[in-house]
Amino acid sequence: MSKIVGIDLGTTNSLVATVDSGIPYVIADADGRRLTPSVVHWAAADANPFVGNAANRVRVLKPAQTVYSVKRFIGRRGAEISDADKQVSYPVASGSHGEVVIPMFGKEFSAEDISAEVLKKLKRDAEVALGESVTRAVITVPAYFNDAQRQATKRAGELAGFTVERIINEPTAAALAYGLDKLKEKSKIAVYDLGGGTFDLSILELNEGVFQVLSTNGNTRLGGDDLDRVLVEFLWQRIASVSPKSEIRNPQSTARLREAAEVAKVKLSTETEIEVSLPFLTPEFSFSHRLTRAELESITGETILRTRPHCLRALADAKLDARDLDQVILVGGQTRMPLVRQLVSEWFGCAEFEEERGGIRLGEDYHKPSGPLLNTGQNPDEAVALGAAIQAEILSGGFKNVLLLDVTPLSLGIETFGGLMNVIIPRNSTIPVKAGEMFTTAMDHQRSMLIHVLQGERERAKDNWSLGRFTLEFESAPRGIPRVGVQFEIDANGILHVLARDTRTGKEMVVEMKSAVDVDDAAVTKMVEESVKHAFDDLATRRWVEAKLKADALLAATRKGVASSASELGAEYSTEIEVVLTLVEAALATENPATSSGDLKQLQAACAKLDEVTKPLADLLMDRAMEAMLRKRGAIS
Ligand code: AMP
Repeated sequence: MSKIVGIDLGTTNSLVATVDSGIPYVIADADGRRLTPSVVHWAAADANPFVGNAANRVRVLKPAQTVYSVKRFIGRRGAEISDADKQVSYPVASGSHGEVVIPMFGKEFSAEDISAEVLKKLKRDAEVALGESVTRAVITVPAYFNDAQRQATKRAGELAGFTVERIINEPTAAALAYGLDKLKEKSKIAVYDLGGGTFDLSILELNEGVFQVLSTNGNTRLGGDDLDRVLVEFLWQRIASVSPKSEIRNPQSTARLREAAEVAKVKLSTETEIEVSLPFLTPEFSFSHRLTRAELESITGETILRTRPHCLRALADAKLDARDLDQVILVGGQTRMPLVRQLVSEWFGCAEFEEERGGIRLGEDYHKPSGPLLNTGQNPDEAVALGAAIQAEILSGGFKNVLLLDVTPLSLGIETFGGLMNVIIPRNSTIPVKAGEMFTTAMDHQRSMLIHVLQGERERAKDNWSLGRFTLEFESAPRGIPRVGVQFEIDANGILHVLARDTRTGKEMVVEMKSAVDVDDAAVTKMVEESVKHAFDDLATRRWVEAKLKADALLAATRKGVASSASELGAEYSTEIEVVLTLVEAALATENPATSSGDLKQLQAACAKLDEVTKPLADLLMDRAMEAMLRKRGAIS
């Protein structure tokens, strides 16, 4: 069996790691580099793409043919993408099924296709380094990825030739890397993970090798890229103030500005002032600006502040106060920025930085200050990949004393009356988890119902992610009688499986929950149309069945009356009744057993005629009943 590798498929960089003799390490490529930029470049339509550093080098020269930060688009629909997200140097469009596509050289690449190219390179690098074929992987995703984004990531892995053994959450992976040498300890930690494109905050409890995630929160569209973007906008304003010529702003200059902004941002993590220099931004125009750390902080501070509500919500969900935490671990390249460290430290009331104590282990007599420690000791780039490798090793049978209990980040439910979301599995439930709901019918002889599966935290169904719709078929029965159980199961990958069971027949159906991007709009429309069509059929059936029940009762009562009063009715009247009875029977015979309905108008007309014709009979029977009652009471003899 092939070794299982751990992969951090990042917005900016991707890494592959493994465990050897109990030691996790990141695998380097042939040039000794451990970080592979998540960048893919196509030089020509049928050429093999350049991936990683090779692609990154041409990014500024050929911005429209170089795809980066594609993780922002994976598993998402074109309609969901904001204008800010679309500000990339390559084209982004909506495909025929509504999914995000990247049109290039007359082809349409999906975000999975692009990610698969990055994964293929990591696979090759691992194979070269390990000297064996590598076909199995654990891949990490932001904790706050929804079902569609997880499924799409899994598909990207499969496209690259991997069997994806597990999808795990990035902050959980980072916690595994952090806690591997602390298996005897008991502590509560928060992992603050701010990468290139996503932000997650997870709170975990570590207890003798059990890593239990208590809560997770985040934003899959917030990261270092956003800081770059506001800095780029600031630099454009500076440029406009010295040269108002609009032709300066073109794809090439934008790509150069973005590159310069990121370099400046990274440098200002260690320096307090730098020169942003862009010679010959256009043939006639060069630009330079002296940028201070304070200036960068005032430009980007607001974006960093957007991570705070997620921290507060995760703490509230875990029912903890920041003071209950032992450590706040910083992960993701963007947490190297001093302002990020300072703000996180303030929000969590951190007493001091771990690094300020020079990495010296604290003795038994050390009393933890009131707040948690801010732990910057993890390599923010590598922690996630190392954690993925540790999970891979656990799946291979290694690290037997480690147990990982993760949670689902978003609630799952179904649409209910009035377009509301009815939660079946609440967010932060430990996975794997199963939960179900029992349904019955509101109408007689209904044979199916449409179930709309949703993921998210909003009250209204339409504000949540639609994971798909399916039609549930069951045996026809009067309303309220069918009992159909729908069970949601979230597996260890955080991926949803749906099972439906008709409890009367025991018939089961595993519903293939396609991800949101996979749901073909036409298929959904057809499904909805079918359910509408069914609703009309069901209505016709109900009206026929009601008329039939009434006709049956009328037939039985008339026959009984005729039999008991034959001598009083006379032959002519008896024949007249018999003729109309035959009309009702003929109308009943129009029923089609397959649809449980017949000629309703014919039946209603025949029953009305029978009502009319049997009026004298009814009067006679009524008189007789009255006479019998009075006799019983002794009023007459
Ligand atoms: P990741 O997705 O974890 O690889 O993080 C990538 C993000 O971290 C990018 O936005 C980088 O610009 C940013 N980053 C990396 N190193 C630094 C640094 N030293 N200072 C500030 N940001 C950094």
